[in-house]
Amino acid sequence: MPRLAIALDLGGSQVRAALVGSDGTIHQRFSEPTKADGSAEAVIAQLAHAARMVSREARDGALPGVGLSSPGPLDTESGMALGLPTIKAFMDVPIRALLEAELGQAVHIENDAIAAALGEWRFGAGKGLRHLVYVTVSTGIGGGVVADGRLLRGRRGLACHIGHMSIVKDGAQCPCGARGCWEAYAAGSAFAARAAERFAERSSPAEVFAAARRGDRVAQSLVDEEADYLGCGIVSLLHLFSPERIIMGGGMSRDLDRLLPGIEAVVLREAMPAYRDVPIVAAGLGSNSGLLGAAALVFESTP
Ligand SMILES: [Zn+2]
Repeated sequence: MPRLAIALDLGGSQVRAALVGSDGTIHQRFSEPTKADGSAEAVIAQLAHAARMVSREARDGALPGVGLSSPGPLDTESGMALGLPTIKAFMDVPIRALLEAELGQAVHIENDAIAAALGEWRFGAGKGLRHLVYVTVSTGIGGGVVADGRLLRGRRGLACHIGHMSIVKDGAQCPCGARGCWEAYAAGSAFAARAAERFAERSSPAEVFAAARRGDRVAQSLVDEEADYLGCGIVSLLHLFSPERIIMGGGMSRDLDRLLPGIEAVVLREAMPAYRDVPIVAAGLGSNSGLLGAAALVFESTP
């Protein structure tokens, strides 16, 4: 009989919850818009409510273990949110302690991209591997690394904020406050900004990809440029972590087939020969990587 866990995924736009079996099956779901302008207490209450909504299905009456995937930077040793860019009130908030008080039980928390890497490792495109790098590209860029069969967490659990690798000295402004980060060039928001300049007013990345598929040259040049920027960061990730596979998630990965030839061309050109044969694949769990990773936090903590 598979065990059960409650998985919570705090996003900038949605709070999601699921009751998940230890085999990765999602039994029950709940979601609602995040009160992103509300107080930290309001968002914590929302998370607790979401947990209770999906736990009704649990058989024995007691609340199953709870795992939370939250945007970072999140100090997972102290349980403090250190300032979530998407949710204003979360600056130095003891998110774990508040949620534990609300639910009356222990809660496992993780930075969202690390949770997603764990989800893909346990249930998705990274199953069975010992070394992988997960890269999520949407509005921003995040990541998670499995090295030598372990999830890499780093000091205070703050490892793998790969979007803030510096790729250009004194380069483009990044939302983190620095200049020249990979995210400032390769994230979906940077892609959309270039599209607005050169393609058509207010084109979403999805519209640019659709136009490229129809043979539009300007759209294709934007896609090629995006692939170039993505490839640049991926070459560094290959050299740093020597993964068996690079797994791409986030909204931009929906058009990975369109980006991949360009990314692979950069890898062939710029990675050292020993790193050039690493497959780059799409996430296996789609938008559920983080949710299933949050559940995996619970299963791994209580074997
Ligand atoms: Zn940055």
